Amino acid sequence: MKNSAEIVIIGGGISGCATAYYLAKMGCTGVVVLEKEYIASGATGRCGAGVRSQWGLELNCKLTKMSIDMFEELDEETDYDGDTEFKQSGYLMLASTEKEVEQFKKNVELQNRLGIKSELLTPAEALKIVPFLNTDFVMAASFHQKDGHLNPFYVTDAYMKAARRLGVEFYTYTTVKDIKVEKGKVVGVVTDKGEIATNKVLNAAGGWAKEIGAMAGVELPLTPERREILVTEPLEALLDPMVISTSLNFYCQQVPHGSFIMGRGNPHEKEGLNQASSWDFLVNMSQTITKVLPILSQVRVVKQFAGLYMMSPDAAPIYGSVPAVDGLYLAVGFSGHGFMVGPMTGLLMAQHILGKDNEMVFSLDKLDLGRFERGELICEPSVV
Ligand SMILES: Cc1cc2nc3c(=O)[nH]c(=O)nc-3n(C[C@H](O)[C@H](O)[C@H](O)COP(=O)(O)OP(=O)(O)OC[C@H]3O[C@@H](n4cnc5c(N)ncnc54)[C@H](O)[C@@H]3O)c2cc1C
Repeated sequence: MKNSAEIVIIGGGISGCATAYYLAKMGCTGVVVLEKEYIASGATGRCGAGVRSQWGLELNCKLTKMSIDMFEELDEETDYDGDTEFKQSGYLMLASTEKEVEQFKKNVELQNRLGIKSELLTPAEALKIVPFLNTDFVMAASFHQKDGHLNPFYVTDAYMKAARRLGVEFYTYTTVKDIKVEKGKVVGVVTDKGEIATNKVLNAAGGWAKEIGAMAGVELPLTPERREILVTEPLEALLDPMVISTSLNFYCQQVPHGSFIMGRGNPHEKEGLNQASSWDFLVNMSQTITKVLPILSQVRVVKQFAGLYMMSPDAAPIYGSVPAVDGLYLAVGFSGHGFMVGPMTGLLMAQHILGKDNEMVFSLDKLDLGRFERGELICEPSVV
């Protein structure tokens, strides 16, 4: 292992790998990525990999729209030897309460104003997109064709391979144990395989980002929380869009090789690093999905797993520098939608770390760590 680096990135998920790629693309040499397990072993490899620009805040609409544009170009951008499987067949978002219907109206108006061609649908119109949808629970829906989902392993692999070709070194099964800080400045990283002297460290450690912050003496306002997900046997192509509902608490998609992938949150989930699967999830998920998409009632579940959401106080990412520790950078707290902003995370963090903030197409100012002290929280109404 190298004993010095220009920049050390902690975490080999989409955030770390995309940032490594853009740093190298911008000409930075001496970038090292440290990953305690394998690439995409964290939330990235366990997620639904859904991407949507149907949000209720301008900031989230813009960030995700730009990321979707980048996902469209990802295979070419990274000269990938495979296919990142971007299935752009839309997100059908269901509204099941009056409050949601009102929110969807506002969301669609905002999205249209920002050039996102989403539409508000009646239950009958939603049925044209998903003919086996049980509309008993649907008061309205919104749909945007350019939303969709990708294969999270291939996406991360594409960034990693492109970064590696540009000189980035990846050390897997290498755990960061400590961050050395002297006189308020990062001077190195201690791992279980040795030390690396560096003045710049990016914390892209997903569900473990709070622990990484603590290593540098920084208390980050983050809480890890388990989210469970399951995979069915493959079936013929039945479902085009990602179907999702906040109030019914589920998302469901069919991936290109035929399996359905679905997940839901547990309102009673305790904070922590537990990634075990539970029987309760299997029961609740099955009951929910067979209610809304009854066609799935006889389908066999072949796999179940869990990953970590890293929640920030306002469910929005925390990007940028840490004022108290010179050389420490953050791309953390994605709260359940870090995959879909991955390309922009990589681009913006690379620009920020290299001092190119004036070249950014999207300002990180509102998403900095300081917003919590300033009381300037970003409260997105359409988080699942
Ligand atoms: C079930 C589930 C479904 C989801 N669905 C979606 C979705 O549909 N769309 C969406 O946009 N987002 C979704 N998300 C959220 C998304 O997965 C995450 O926000 C995103 O993947 C975060 O990426 P990351 O690279 O920041 O973190 P991660 O992918 O978690 O990567 C962090 C890495 O850091 C490594 N690490 C941690 N500590 C150390 C250490 N001490 N030393 C070295 N390495 C370390 C970990 O092993 C890990 O690989 C979902 C999440 C879950 C759990």
